[in-house]
Amino acid sequence: MIKEIKVKTALLPSKLPGLDYALNPYRGCAHACVYCYAPSVIHWNGKWGELVEAKVNLPRILSKTIRTKKKSVVGLGTVTDPYQPIEEKYQITRRCLEILQLHDFPVCIQTKSALVLRDIDLLREFSNIEVGVTLTSPDDSVRSKLEPGASSVAERLRALHELRENGIDTWVFLGPLMPHITDIEGLVDAVAEVKPKYVIVDRLRLKPGVWENVRRFVEEFYPQYLDGYVKIFVEGRQGYYDGFLGRVRELCKEKGVEV
Ligand code: SF4
Repeated sequence: MIKEIKVKTALLPSKLPGLDYALNPYRGCAHACVYCYAPSVIHWNGKWGELVEAKVNLPRILSKTIRTKKKSVVGLGTVTDPYQPIEEKYQITRRCLEILQLHDFPVCIQTKSALVLRDIDLLREFSNIEVGVTLTSPDDSVRSKLEPGASSVAERLRALHELRENGIDTWVFLGPLMPHITDIEGLVDAVAEVKPKYVIVDRLRLKPGVWENVRRFVEEFYPQYLDGYVKIFVEGRQGYYDGFLGRVRELCKEKGVEV
């Protein structure tokens, strides 16, 4: 379901590393990732993924307020995916990018959608832009359970390849990686093929509500690993998890992928 809303602000300060502002064209996200912690950040009530609110006046507000802002890095999509399916119709992300480009703001996009390829013409106009694509598994049957509304693994890899071919800096967000479920060797091999500038390896962030969703997912699809997940994420066997993520970093180094 889609609801059109109006907002009063566009660029909000961001505490995420490397970002000065956050710009989110939508509230809610149809990608409906099991591990998403955005609902707790934006105080979302209701089932995540069912409703998306389109900030229809965001480009106008951005255009009015951008002159008052110091030119620094804008994170596009910190609690939503800027290229989720309704962007095809609303083009709020694209119109915001046009304004950011006009004012020469540096931009960092993060997405799980190949729809970003639609905007290659515009992305090429920026003097400073990076596109990050998230990957949590090389196996699309895992992806379809974990991130049901997002682009397939093959589409995301194609997006990374085409962006790079067009001279746009890319990076890959490897996270959250799922112990026992993510084939980390296969994932790092696939990433090495598309030659991103760097990767970020991240852990599962257990914000309110996340563990319950992950538990349901493991119980339904991978019940054999439930005890292991309880040990890691409830009883705090973080040593195991740190070792698992450490192995991913090692694999990246072996394949010449900068972490
Ligand atoms: S793409 Fe990002 S914002 Fe959207 S559901 Fe997945 S984790 Fe949440």
